[in-house]
Amino acid sequence: PWLPVKPDICFYENGHGGSGVKDASNMQNWTSMIPVDKTAFREKICRLLSENMKSIVYGMPTHLTRLDAEYDYFFKTWSMHPAVTWEAQTATGEKYLTEPCCAHTGAGDLFAYRIDKLLQEQPELFGIYFDVMHVKNCDNPLHGCGGIDSFGKKYSTSGALNLREYCLRVYKLANKYGRIFLVHAHNAFFPFVHDLSNGWNPGEEMFTAVHDNPEWAYLEAIAPEAWQSAWNCNLRGVEIRLMSQLERVPQCLGWGKNQAESLRMRSFENALHALAPSVLYDFQVTTFATEPPGHPIFKYWKIRKDIGLAKAKFHGYWYSDAVASRSANVKASWYEWEHPAPYRRLIGVVNTGRETQKAGLLIDWHKLGLPEEPGSLKELWQDKLFNPKEISEIEIPGHNFLLLGIE
Ligand SMILES: [Zn+2]
Repeated sequence: PWLPVKPDICFYENGHGGSGVKDASNMQNWTSMIPVDKTAFREKICRLLSENMKSIVYGMPTHLTRLDAEYDYFFKTWSMHPAVTWEAQTATGEKYLTEPCCAHTGAGDLFAYRIDKLLQEQPELFGIYFDVMHVKNCDNPLHGCGGIDSFGKKYSTSGALNLREYCLRVYKLANKYGRIFLVHAHNAFFPFVHDLSNGWNPGEEMFTAVHDNPEWAYLEAIAPEAWQSAWNCNLRGVEIRLMSQLERVPQCLGWGKNQAESLRMRSFENALHALAPSVLYDFQVTTFATEPPGHPIFKYWKIRKDIGLAKAKFHGYWYSDAVASRSANVKASWYEWEHPAPYRRLIGVVNTGRETQKAGLLIDWHKLGLPEEPGSLKELWQDKLFNPKEISEIEIPGHNFLLLGIE
């Protein structure tokens, strides 16, 4: 079957927004894709890279600001109507707006040119990220959108096809230079637009659920059927990266890093609970660049990378009965590799309930495609060997997981 390429994207630094920050290594404005000083920018991303942090430039698709010279000449003709605008500020605190243009106008050419130049001049740049990639309608007749139909009724034009063309164009540029192109549009996935990227980034829709229930929201506020469909990279055709809200909620609400409610929400235990669904449903999890050293996400990324998890074939618990459990709420999905890898199989076991339960696994080794029961399995999180009988007796706390590698 056709499967999406999953680059297993991990990066920590997600800066360079260019709003309100006076820095030669920043961008000229929030969405410009042009560094203030390309040498200073390159020095900064090289320094971050030497500290094991990859850099990605933040942007919005074909959004102009009055700080761009092209704005005065072309904005009226290129602009999208009606428009959703976003307010930013210059280094001196002067407010300005980022304003959307339809991508089949000259704005598409302008930004494709800027991105091409940026990627060419910044070989250490890991990639680019587009926020607000929503598919909208437009009725600006100056570039051929909308109009009056033969019944005299006003109509507007969907931007889906021109955004698709633009996405494809940027995706090709990213591929040309071997970089990553990520897209975000809240939870409004649009199949033939957003899958023309290296990664779809949902998760902000969990803000309130996580705020209200940081301990259990991930496996309780999202139904299994939603994880199995909307969060299924094999259905979406693109890598899915959960933007975890445990770090974002405190930052958005202005809680101090050491404020008690912030520390409670950002506990490593809660972080494990947020990782658990990714084990069971096969997707990647991002950082918010505020995670402290020792945070579970870094260990999780390293394990995924070491075993090449993104290259494995996934078998979800809801269609494979190779691994079952005697314990209520304990579910297990499994992974296999077609090419040489450190393990032949990996079983991801999650306790989806709140109470601690035994793993209680019932494993059909033949259905896993193995000739016989292995002598031992390695639990990768604890880095410990167990024999199959001991595995079943392991106690899993609520919303925690086991990663069982079979050599
Ligand atoms: Zn338009």
